[in-house]
Amino acid sequence: MKLLVTGGAGYVGSVCAAVLVEAGHDVTIIDNFTTGNREAVPAAARLVEGDVRDKAAEVLSEGGFEGVVHFAARSLVGESMEVPDEYWQHNLVTTLALLDAMRANDVKNLVFSSTAATYGEPEVVPITEDLPTKPTNTYGATKLSIDYAITSYANAYGLGATSLRYFNVAGAYGEIGENREIETHLIPLVLQVALGHRDKIFIFGDDYPTPDGTAVRDYIHIRDLADAHVLALETNTPGTHRIYNLGSGDGYSVKQVIEACRAVTGHPIPAELAPRRAGDPATLIASSAKIKEELGWNPTRTELTTIVTDAWNFTKNLGERAHSAKRVR
Ligand code: UDP
Repeated sequence: MKLLVTGGAGYVGSVCAAVLVEAGHDVTIIDNFTTGNREAVPAAARLVEGDVRDKAAEVLSEGGFEGVVHFAARSLVGESMEVPDEYWQHNLVTTLALLDAMRANDVKNLVFSSTAATYGEPEVVPITEDLPTKPTNTYGATKLSIDYAITSYANAYGLGATSLRYFNVAGAYGEIGENREIETHLIPLVLQVALGHRDKIFIFGDDYPTPDGTAVRDYIHIRDLADAHVLALETNTPGTHRIYNLGSGDGYSVKQVIEACRAVTGHPIPAELAPRRAGDPATLIASSAKIKEELGWNPTRTELTTIVTDAWNFTKNLGERAHSAKRVR
């Protein structure tokens, strides 16, 4: 298929773009490099640099596009509470422009990158798609509002779409892993301690109603996540908007993640207790039964050790590359 991938230089977008290229698709990426990395863009993909809002209509009007995979977004929970205007603009307004550009150019196949943050603090776990959506932060609210827009475009204009609600994406695929200028996620931060780039990891709260008191999350391997996008693209039906959760179905506490990182890296990884982080739910675990049943999604890298090992191999290589770049200078 001839595909547009927005945000294809970001962590999730670039792995999915790589997997789509490997599957034989013809991929054009739009990215403005606010958070993306140039080296993550697959060599075989075409790159259009700029904002999706400005570029989508121009690119799609070239003709021949058969589908869009939409990743480009702001995605930090804390930041979304401080500068909500940017989140509504870059997430909702940009996606509305993209939907209209798709409609104008008769592109009816969309996969949308969404989030567990659309559910908010869950009343029951594992979280199924029919549970109430009550986002507790602006990021989740923008993603949920986009789902409403997609549903109405599917009903009225024949769009065929799938929203994939990710839980905690982690791990690496080949040369691509988590490599952000400002890192806030648990696994990459813990691995930075193992690499010697940080002294210790802070555990944000140990008084949650969980077995060891630290927050529990469902970690999904980036490569398994990418497979779900390919399946969604291949099975979208005009006039239908499907929503699926994507997780491994197992919950791991912050302490268990740190322990897994110690086992994989052989580093003691000092940890220190710190206050809870605002807006963090105690437990988020996905039920992915629906996508397994309906699309035959079959995640194969669900062990935490596999996820951490792949992330660690990427982090070590990144550290070595940064080290030799410094030496060259
Ligand atoms: N966390 C932590 N220390 C850190 C970063 C994260 O204890 O330095 C916790 C965080 O409070 C949450 C879990 O690890 O309970 C996963 O956080 P992350 O930011 O990776 O993903 P989120 O669940 O917020 O999307």
